Amino acid sequence: MTPEPVDALIVGAGPAGLMAAEMLAAPGRRIVLADAMPSPARKFLMAGKSGLNLTKAEDAADFARHFAGSVDPQTGDFDPRAVMDWAEGLGIELFTGSTGRVFPVGMKASPLLRAWLARLEDVDLRRRWRWTAMQGGVFGFDTPGGPRWIAPRVTVLALGGASWPRLGSDAAWVPMLRDAGVDVASFRPANMGFRVDWSEPMRRHLGAAVKGVAIHAGGLIGRGEWVIGAQGVEGGGIYEVSAPMRDGADAHVDLAPDLDHAALARRFAKPRGKLSLGNWLRRAIGDPVKVALLLEWGQPLPKDAQALAALTKALPLRHDGPMGLVGAISAAGGITGDALTKDLELRALPGTFAAGEMLDWEAPTGGYLLTACLATGRRAGLAAARHLDQSAQACR
Ligand SMILES: Cc1cc2nc3c(=O)[nH]c(=O)nc-3n(C[C@H](O)[C@H](O)[C@H](O)COP(=O)(O)OP(=O)(O)OC[C@H]3O[C@@H](n4cnc5c(N)ncnc54)[C@H](O)[C@@H]3O)c2cc1C
Repeated sequence: MTPEPVDALIVGAGPAGLMAAEMLAAPGRRIVLADAMPSPARKFLMAGKSGLNLTKAEDAADFARHFAGSVDPQTGDFDPRAVMDWAEGLGIELFTGSTGRVFPVGMKASPLLRAWLARLEDVDLRRRWRWTAMQGGVFGFDTPGGPRWIAPRVTVLALGGASWPRLGSDAAWVPMLRDAGVDVASFRPANMGFRVDWSEPMRRHLGAAVKGVAIHAGGLIGRGEWVIGAQGVEGGGIYEVSAPMRDGADAHVDLAPDLDHAALARRFAKPRGKLSLGNWLRRAIGDPVKVALLLEWGQPLPKDAQALAALTKALPLRHDGPMGLVGAISAAGGITGDALTKDLELRALPGTFAAGEMLDWEAPTGGYLLTACLATGRRAGLAAARHLDQSAQACR
């Protein structure tokens, strides 16, 4: 079949691909945005289910410090203030929470997505178009109408990472790009929980939220809430320290971060009398869930008040390793910095750019992920647009 000529092809209609499409859209340009799923931006919509944390109100330099990996997503290009202005420009009212996290007032992603797609009405969105092949600058898709080929003048790939594959980002593209000579680092879970084989007594706390503790791992501190789940520990406070834990750092929980060691030791020095061990510990540290964790991970409990205080402030978080990619919030790994120019063009495939979570950067939750996807989508889209303009001038 003869390939369909277009000016720009974007593969992947998540936030990175939509932003690249917004940068490329211009009167007279033929732009195709292809996505494997029946509807666009499914992970973005899922992100909105528990409150769409769009960005974090931090200055650009502080914000940039939260990223690791071989690709710098250059969020200074499209910093938190720019993200907020952009969302407000789509008619979405925002609020900033006490920790600086920025959300739409309505918390959901769907109103923003609706307004965004309306802005992109001139972009030809092709649903259920799965990219499966690439031959000399021509891209092959499996579509409901059978195989189709597109011959673009420029391309932006924005196929996402490898977590939550049922929402579309299944990383099936990795062998295709590796075969084309693009260096892709293997994906690993990021912002994920850790497996714990709980003892029987601990099982009655399944589903309980752990609040008011601090987890220390690899120089990071997780202060957010987390949950005692059937498979292990999950939630914001765990995600905050999940990267060093995944990479082998020991984690310790401070069950009483607002009490210093001496104050806690004084509490533990009080005689137990007729109190059960559980009730006596509860008097000292307050919360039955914290007591359960101390009994779970702190055995054998020291009898000495000083040693018990030290243990309560640095309780080893005993786990059996990270949970898998399937349930992780995001993924580390992807197209490496060496494979890309500063403009996110693939060195092995001139005229093809890449953006979003398919690149090898990682960041904690808190608005960093979406902001980096938008910033890289914007950078790749603008560079692809310049590439188009330059090739048009060269043809004149
Ligand atoms: C439960 C959950 C909550 C989250 N909450 C937040 C949050 O509050 N704040 C935050 O900053 N981040 C959050 N994230 C992370 C954020 O949603 C992702 O980082 C972001 O969606 C990644 O954007 P992307 O465009 O790179 O990829 P994706 O959103 O994964 O989009 C990639 C697209 O490519 C398509 N695709 C894949 N392969 C092919 C193919 N072969 N052919 C055609 N199309 C293909 C997919 O169908 C998909 O539509 C959350 C993630 C999860 C799972």
